[in-house]
Amino acid sequence: METTIKYGAHDVGCFVSGHSGCHGPKEVIDLAVDAGFIISPPEDYEAVERYDSGDDLEFGITNDLLDEAERWLNDNVVEEGFSFGWSDGEFFLAPNHDAEIGWCQSEGAECDEGCA
Ligand SMILES: [Zn+2]
Repeated sequence: METTIKYGAHDVGCFVSGHSGCHGPKEVIDLAVDAGFIISPPEDYEAVERYDSGDDLEFGITNDLLDEAERWLNDNVVEEGFSFGWSDGEFFLAPNHDAEIGWCQSEGAECDEGCA
Protein backbone atom coordinates (compact mmCIF):
# COMPACT_ATOMS: atom_id res chain seq x y z
CA MET A 1 0.00 0.00 0.00
CA GLU A 2 1.26 3.45 -0.81
CA THR A 3 1.39 5.78 2.13
CA THR A 4 0.84 9.49 2.19
CA ILE A 5 1.40 12.06 4.89
CA LYS A 6 -1.71 11.87 6.96
CA TYR A 7 -1.02 13.63 10.23
CA GLY A 8 0.33 17.08 10.87
CA ALA A 9 -0.31 20.43 12.48
CA HIS A 10 -4.09 20.04 12.26
CA ASP A 11 -4.05 16.78 14.16
CA VAL A 12 -1.94 17.73 17.14
CA GLY A 13 -3.45 16.30 20.27
CA CYS A 14 -4.21 13.13 22.16
CA PHE A 15 -4.87 10.06 20.03
CA VAL A 16 -5.06 7.39 22.71
CA SER A 17 -6.03 8.58 26.15
CA GLY A 18 -5.04 7.02 29.44
CA HIS A 19 -8.62 5.74 29.74
CA SER A 20 -7.77 3.13 27.16
CA GLY A 21 -5.50 1.53 29.74
CA CYS A 22 -4.38 -1.88 28.54
CA HIS A 23 -6.18 -1.33 25.22
CA GLY A 24 -3.89 1.59 24.37
CA PRO A 25 -1.22 -0.48 22.62
CA LYS A 26 -3.71 -2.11 20.28
CA GLU A 27 -5.27 1.26 19.48
CA VAL A 28 -1.85 2.60 18.48
CA ILE A 29 -1.05 -0.47 16.41
CA ASP A 30 -4.46 -0.25 14.72
CA LEU A 31 -3.83 3.42 13.98
CA ALA A 32 -0.66 2.40 12.15
CA VAL A 33 -2.34 -0.54 10.39
CA ASP A 34 -5.14 1.75 9.18
CA ALA A 35 -2.47 4.04 7.72
CA GLY A 36 -0.77 1.19 5.87
CA PHE A 37 1.61 -0.41 8.38
CA ILE A 38 2.08 -4.10 7.61
CA ILE A 39 2.60 -6.47 10.50
CA SER A 40 5.01 -9.22 9.69
CA PRO A 41 4.69 -11.99 10.62
CA PRO A 42 0.89 -11.69 10.87
CA GLU A 43 0.89 -13.93 13.95
CA ASP A 44 2.27 -10.97 15.86
CA TYR A 45 -1.08 -9.28 15.53
CA GLU A 46 -2.75 -12.28 17.10
CA ALA A 47 -0.51 -11.78 20.12
CA VAL A 48 -1.67 -8.16 20.26
CA GLU A 49 -5.31 -9.29 20.16
CA ARG A 50 -4.72 -11.88 22.88
CA TYR A 51 -3.11 -9.22 25.02
CA ASP A 52 -5.92 -6.77 24.30
CA SER A 53 -8.60 -9.28 25.21
CA GLY A 54 -6.83 -10.12 28.45
CA ASP A 55 -6.23 -13.74 27.45
CA ASP A 56 -2.48 -13.34 27.45
CA LEU A 57 -0.84 -10.62 29.44
CA GLU A 58 2.66 -11.36 28.16
CA PHE A 59 3.61 -8.02 26.74
CA GLY A 60 6.97 -8.75 25.11
CA ILE A 61 6.08 -9.17 21.48
CA THR A 62 3.30 -6.61 21.65
CA ASN A 63 5.69 -4.12 23.10
CA ASP A 64 8.21 -4.58 20.28
CA LEU A 65 5.46 -4.26 17.74
CA LEU A 66 4.19 -1.16 19.49
CA ASP A 67 7.60 0.49 19.16
CA GLU A 68 7.76 -0.55 15.55
CA ALA A 69 4.27 0.84 14.84
CA GLU A 70 5.18 4.14 16.48
CA ARG A 71 8.40 4.40 14.46
CA TRP A 72 6.56 3.50 11.28
CA LEU A 73 3.94 6.19 11.86
CA ASN A 74 6.61 8.81 12.45
CA ASP A 75 8.67 7.70 9.45
CA ASN A 76 5.82 7.41 6.98
CA VAL A 77 2.67 9.37 7.65
CA VAL A 78 3.60 12.33 9.82
CA GLU A 79 4.40 15.79 8.50
CA GLU A 80 7.97 16.91 9.04
CA GLY A 81 8.38 18.66 12.38
CA PHE A 82 5.75 16.56 14.15
CA SER A 83 5.79 13.18 15.77
CA PHE A 84 3.77 10.66 17.70
CA GLY A 85 4.91 9.64 21.13
CA TRP A 86 3.85 8.59 24.60
CA SER A 87 3.51 10.89 27.54
CA ASP A 88 2.13 9.69 30.87
CA GLY A 89 0.44 6.68 29.32
CA GLU A 90 -1.24 8.70 26.58
CA PHE A 91 -0.34 8.71 22.91
CA PHE A 92 0.00 12.12 21.35
CA LEU A 93 0.80 13.82 18.11
CA ALA A 94 2.84 16.91 18.89
CA PRO A 95 5.40 19.22 17.36
CA ASN A 96 8.86 17.67 17.74
CA HIS A 97 9.79 20.47 20.06
CA ASP A 98 7.27 22.18 22.26
CA ALA A 99 8.74 23.81 25.32
CA GLU A 100 5.27 24.70 26.60
CA ILE A 101 4.34 21.10 27.22
CA GLY A 102 7.91 19.95 27.84
CA TRP A 103 7.92 17.77 24.74
CA CYS A 104 11.22 17.17 22.99
CA GLN A 105 11.84 14.36 20.54
CA SER A 106 15.59 14.72 20.90
CA GLU A 107 15.14 12.52 23.98
CA GLY A 108 18.26 13.28 25.90
CA ALA A 109 20.45 13.97 22.89
CA GLU A 110 21.42 17.58 22.65
CA CYS A 111 18.53 19.57 21.24
CA ASP A 112 19.35 22.41 18.87
CA GLU A 113 15.78 23.72 18.83
CA GLY A 114 16.15 25.50 22.13
CA CYS A 115 14.35 23.06 24.42
CA ALA A 116 15.59 22.95 27.98
ZN1 LIG B 1 13.89 19.85 21.53
